[in-house]
Amino acid sequence: MDVFKGQNILNFVKELPDDDSCKAYLAKIKWQDGFKCMKCGHTKGCAKAGYTYQCYNCQHVESSTANTLFHKVKFGLHKAFCIVFEMATSTKSVSSVQMGKRFDVRQGTAWYFMQKVRIAMQSSQQYPLSEIVHVDEFTVGGKEEGKQGRSYDSKKKKAVIAVELDKKHKIKRVYVRSIEDYSARSLTPIFEEHISTTAKVVTDKWRGYAPLMKDYNIEQKYSAGGKNFKEMHIVIMQLKSWLRAIPTHVSKWHVQRYFDEFCFRINRSQFKETIFHKTIERMVAKKPIYQQVIKQHVSV
Ligand SMILES: [Zn+2]
Repeated sequence: MDVFKGQNILNFVKELPDDDSCKAYLAKIKWQDGFKCMKCGHTKGCAKAGYTYQCYNCQHVESSTANTLFHKVKFGLHKAFCIVFEMATSTKSVSSVQMGKRFDVRQGTAWYFMQKVRIAMQSSQQYPLSEIVHVDEFTVGGKEEGKQGRSYDSKKKKAVIAVELDKKHKIKRVYVRSIEDYSARSLTPIFEEHISTTAKVVTDKWRGYAPLMKDYNIEQKYSAGGKNFKEMHIVIMQLKSWLRAIPTHVSKWHVQRYFDEFCFRINRSQFKETIFHKTIERMVAKKPIYQQVIKQHVSV
């Protein structure tokens, strides 16, 4: 199929000018390996008008948006594609207020849809970090950013970050996870989800990492005012400034979505050409999520 490449907005509107072309784009992705009926699982059917497919077994007509994160997008598929394009390709974070103004949708509508895009940006957890991995905890939000050390200010949201470096200490990939506290129990998931047991992990001297040492190759170093973890602290600064650009109050429950978006873009910065297509592909692969579920901050 013709994959949209690059970050040029003029090419984007030329190749995907309206709702129909976006429907066609989704159909190509959805049925690229053949048709499978979402109602009965039958694999024979025929393409119908409007980029739909009809099942020969149960006669159900399936649209290219059905059973994906584009399901029932009420403000039009073209606007939805534009929002995905903005999120995937612009270097700064865009707020739902701005996005709403730019594409003439209500702020709340834009926010819900953007949360869906962020859900698609969640890590698949299939490629754990495997080289040199620096891990640290930090806080976001609240009033004044504390100095080094662990803050117990309840307004701040706590997080743990894992940064993979290559042998020349260049940043390769990043994962961030929202945590309740700094206990070993809360620090364990980022290891299980994102770090290979063969990686060379470096943390500061915090005792919360000690129980993980039996399964992971962990070296503990003094932070020395951040000097021993220079690259990681640069990423943390970038993440904080990324979050500052979002004016609405980010609740504790939703902050993970913004972390996912930030990491997805960093981790694909070498593949910018196809980042838009990759995001659309992931949105097609994900099941629909209803606003109520997003609002209830249920993890999906
Ligand atoms: Zn069927």
